[in-house]
Amino acid sequence: MNRRKFIKNASLTGVGLAVGNSLVNCADGNSKENLEKGKIIANPSKVNLPLVIATWDVKNATAKAMEVLQAGGNSLDAVEQGCKIEEANEKGQSVGKGGLPDRDGNVTLDACIMDKHGNCGSVVYLQNITHAVSVARKVMEDTPHVMLAGEGAKQFAISKGFKVEDLLTETSKKAWEKWKVEAKYKPIINIENHDTIGMLAIDKHGDISGACTTSGLAYKLGGRVGDSPIIGSGLFVDNEIGACVATGLGEEVVKTVGSFLVVELMRQGKSPQDACEEAISRIVNKPNSDYKNFQVGYIAVNKSGETGSYSIHQWFSMTKFQDGVNEQIQSDYFNKV
Ligand code: ASP
Repeated sequence: MNRRKFIKNASLTGVGLAVGNSLVNCADGNSKENLEKGKIIANPSKVNLPLVIATWDVKNATAKAMEVLQAGGNSLDAVEQGCKIEEANEKGQSVGKGGLPDRDGNVTLDACIMDKHGNCGSVVYLQNITHAVSVARKVMEDTPHVMLAGEGAKQFAISKGFKVEDLLTETSKKAWEKWKVEAKYKPIINIENHDTIGMLAIDKHGDISGACTTSGLAYKLGGRVGDSPIIGSGLFVDNEIGACVATGLGEEVVKTVGSFLVVELMRQGKSPQDACEEAISRIVNKPNSDYKNFQVGYIAVNKSGETGSYSIHQWFSMTKFQDGVNEQIQSDYFNKV
């Protein structure tokens, strides 16, 4: 139970860096003019870079991303390589190979990636290809499009040399067969350690990238697509401001364009922690919100290397790798009653 101990996870990693418009520290590159424009400029010499954060307890994934960054790789390579670790991990039942299927027994993957220039790529309803995040990157880099779906995405992946595999493992098949006995659909509030993986990284040049990959909600309707591959909902990166990635009930994230909202709130001067809290409050404070029955969690980083995370319910966490420390940090949460 130790690692489940609550730790408020906003951590200031920059020295004297401006978070609100009222704080100005020109020595850090945050001129009054930039801050008035809502831009927070990182000064890599003042921030402990590189830095990686990810949703849930995925230390192997953040370790891989950090290895890429330490070797001089950029943040885009880092988030892709980090996410691939969980996609290949058959024990994780909500990402890549071994992901829980939809109610018809099909494992369908959603993923996206976004770089420092605001370029992005995504795949939705992708079947039989483990590394959805890498296919998303190919969509971004090798096509004029942002999003490919279903059979088209699969054929594109095959044309790029991706291996066709059966993603339904024996364990996930058994879980699905057990579910079919009652066939009741109910979102699972926390799947600790192996939920959607969303990852954000800042490389040593201060450039931010993000990625997100998932098999989506277990036993969803065939054809259902969640927030994770929707740019602005599951993920958003603005290299001038920061980035955010979401996990949990995707429908609720889509309805509030959650990750874009968090980044825009940071642009207006909120810290990553406050921005995540405000985005959660937009969900739970809706009239007739059913928030007691679902989970949503956000993690965010700003250009200054400040991080935050917040969720509706307890037990959401992020993994953070910075300064040689790769640790799981429990998130603060809304529903304390
Ligand atoms: N956000 C994902 C979806 O709705 C699921 C998750 O994060 O667990 O597809």
